[in-house]
Parts: sequence; structure tokens; C-alpha cells
Amino acid sequence: MSFVRTVLGDIAPSALGTTYAHEHLIIDTSYTTQVFPEIHLPSVENAVAELGDFRKAGGHAMIETMPCDAGRNVLKLAEISRRAGVHIVAPTGLHLPKFYPQGHWRFRATATELADLFVTEIEQGIDANDCAGPAVLRTSHRAGVVKVGSAARGLDDAERAAFEAAAAAHRRTGCPIITHVEPGLGLDQVALLTSRGVEPRKITLSHTDRTLDPDYHRAILRTGVNVEYDRMLRAPLDDSNPTLKLAARMLPEFPDQVMLGTDGARPAYWRSYGGSPGLDWLLGGFREMLKKAGVTDELLKKCFLDTPARAYAFSR
Ligand SMILES: [Zn+2]
Repeated sequence: MSFVRTVLGDIAPSALGTTYAHEHLIIDTSYTTQVFPEIHLPSVENAVAELGDFRKAGGHAMIETMPCDAGRNVLKLAEISRRAGVHIVAPTGLHLPKFYPQGHWRFRATATELADLFVTEIEQGIDANDCAGPAVLRTSHRAGVVKVGSAARGLDDAERAAFEAAAAAHRRTGCPIITHVEPGLGLDQVALLTSRGVEPRKITLSHTDRTLDPDYHRAILRTGVNVEYDRMLRAPLDDSNPTLKLAARMLPEFPDQVMLGTDGARPAYWRSYGGSPGLDWLLGGFREMLKKAGVTDELLKKCFLDTPARAYAFSR
């Protein structure tokens, strides 16, 4: 039986519902927010309010994407999910090297050690101390996705170890993988992961709409992996939006492999923090514009429901 592993337990993939494919609900006080103060999202209250609006707009689930020791807080995620009534899939994994200080344990860990850590968080539970150090407080909230990222062409040593570990964790548990992709570098990641036995259908490349050349997307999508577009809040919120144009073009060509999210990792995008347009805009104004651009209800259902239910399900 296939399942999606949410922070509050396993559910049938068909129960996931309308899903945002790459989100940030909590970015807690951490090295990450020291270096990038503009992405600080510490508030459970604000997340519950923002997700209330997301629910009213028809949303049911979000894939959270802050992995080990980059501002993740699994206890806050569990509380938000419970109070807002929204499914949240919590990640294990590692972010780009720039999210960690020099000398951080991630730069010393072998791929085998990292794989063991990821598998423990998938099978047993995520550390309440966010893997910040040797003190571990294992919660019962398990990781449902492995997040890894790379910024170097061909991947550098630290990135490669994280990707090798993600692939091993996938082989051992069936856990799906989501990656952070820098412009133009998607195929490097696909090549590494698939060569290590990861099923393409269980790989989702994020932020791929930072590159707008349709042929780049076709080359990635022909490998069988999924892509996720999430730059729409970072451009004019009208029909000149490049992510809108790209989604309207690629969805009909690859109807079962394209997902959408907001990557809304900034209080400036959240109404509950006094920003705009709010995370529900993807299901409101943006979805309306997609329809006007010719995207059918059937394609929208695939993009928001069917593809996330398949891509984020464990493969066993
Ligand atoms: Zn993100």
C-alpha cells in the first residue's frame, strides 16, 4: 500500500487533496535567519491564520521544505497542521551548503552517515532540536520527503554527499525526494539521482521556472521526473507573469509532471505578517489567470491533486 507520510501520520495518497508542492511554514531563529533575516517565519499563530485562508480557497496540503538545521521546527509544524486542519509533509535532508556555517557537521559527514540520519528521521521521527548538535530529542513526527539542494555545476563534495544520501534513503524507505535547483542545473541532479537507483517519478525538481527556456523543461521532463514552479510571487502578479506563461505552456505537454507551489519563504508575501498577496493567491488570482490562459480544469486537477498524490507518495 502506497502512502503519504504527513507530520501527523500516514495517509492514503488520495486523501492528500489540493497541494502546494514547495512551501515554508516555519523558518525558525537559526543560522539561516541570521544570514537571511528577510526569510524569518517563526510564528505558529500567523501560519495557522494563513493556512485558514488557504483552506477557504480550497487547499488541503502543503509540502514543507526546510530540512535539517536550517530553521526547521517539527513541533511547530505539527501544531500548525493540527490547528489549521491542513496536511503538512515535513522534510529531512539538507539545504544548500550556504545555509550552514563553516565547520558545520554536514561538511564532515559521509554519505553513509547522512543516509542513516535521513532514514532515522523518516522511520522513527524528526529531532526536536533540528539536528543542531549531538543532543537529540526524537519526536514521533516522521519525515515524509527528503530535501536536498545543489548550486554547483556537477555538484561539489558536500552537495554530492547529500544527494548520495538522499538516493540511499529513497532506496531503503521509498521516500520521495525534492530538490532545490539553481538556474539551468536540473539535469545534473537528475543524472546523479537516477544513476543511484531513484525512480524518476519520485523526484521533484523545485524552482525550475528560474529558467524559462521550454526546451530545458522538455529535456528534464522527458526523463520522467516532476518539476515544481514557484516563482509566481516574485514577478508582477498579472498576465505578464513568466511562471504563468511557462505553466500554461508546459502543463498541456506534460500534464502529469508539473506542480505548483509558492516557495513563500518571506513574511512580505503573507497577509498574516502584514504582507501580500497571501499564500492563498496561488489558488485564487493565479489559478484564474491560468484558466484564462487556456489551462483546463482537468489539467489544474492534475497539477494540484493527482501529481502531488503520486510524486509525494512512498514507492512501496
Ligand atoms: Zn524553498
